[in-house]
Amino acid sequence: MSKQKVAIITGAGRGIGAATAKLFARNGYAVCINYKSDEKSASQVAKSISADGGQCITVQADVSFESDVERLFTTVDKVLGTVTVLVNNAGILKKQSRLEDMTAERINSILTNNVTSYFLCCREAVKRMSTQRDGSGGVIVNVSSAAARSGSPNEYIDYAASKGAIDTLTKGLSLEVAAEGIRVNCVRPGLIYTDMHADGGEPERIERLKHVIPMQRGGQSGEVAEAIYWLACEKSSFSTGNFLDLAGGL
Ligand code: NAP
Repeated sequence: MSKQKVAIITGAGRGIGAATAKLFARNGYAVCINYKSDEKSASQVAKSISADGGQCITVQADVSFESDVERLFTTVDKVLGTVTVLVNNAGILKKQSRLEDMTAERINSILTNNVTSYFLCCREAVKRMSTQRDGSGGVIVNVSSAAARSGSPNEYIDYAASKGAIDTLTKGLSLEVAAEGIRVNCVRPGLIYTDMHADGGEPERIERLKHVIPMQRGGQSGEVAEAIYWLACEKSSFSTGNFLDLAGGL
């Protein structure tokens, strides 16, 4: 019997994470839907997966906290089995602001939620996947952003810089574990229709900006999920340390 495929998707209660969790479940993965605070949305994602005959659990964990990340992974070990795919997706942004108005509290919050969290989840995944530690290998897909390339001036340089750090994490870790059966890749979405833009203070942000996108439209969560899935599945088996830009040409 082949080994159970187990995917942990962080921040999977809504948006790109929810679409990714549903896609992995449709492809036979047992899925862990991680969420931070919105239990209701995470349960709805789980309900939809179960209704389609998929296997999943929801686990509340703030992935910026080390002890929460450890609990997330040990829960998955016990309930679903050893993780084979980690999708680092959870992320936040704050209200649009110029740099001179940013407080240390805000900057640190962005960095712990968007960067420390990815490092901690990668650490726990590598401990379980590495063939040097008796693991059977696995795949990590990090969700960065086109902001890592644009820098997001006048909106959120802190967020953009946090995504730049994810690109560097992806490159470094992919090389560190390439010979240990672990592939590490990254997607960089552009403007995607999710509730995240409302958190930045401008729910209609994509409508304002879509004329600058060569394809003249925003993207859908499902389009990002498909790319994440491809980077995680066997079809991309010789790909590591790579970046897939999903930004309509931006
Ligand atoms: P979203 O709709 O705001 O969803 C993000 C999810 O992350 C939320 O459900 C939230 O959980 C969860 N989360 C945040 N901090 C967390 C933490 N510390 N621990 C656990 N969960 C946490 O965002 P999205 O647009 O789908 O974005 C997903 C990823 O894509 C993010 O990394 C984002 O930076 C990236 N991205 C998005 C866009 C875009 O245009 N939307 C573009 C480029 C990149 P709760 O609801 O439970 O609090």
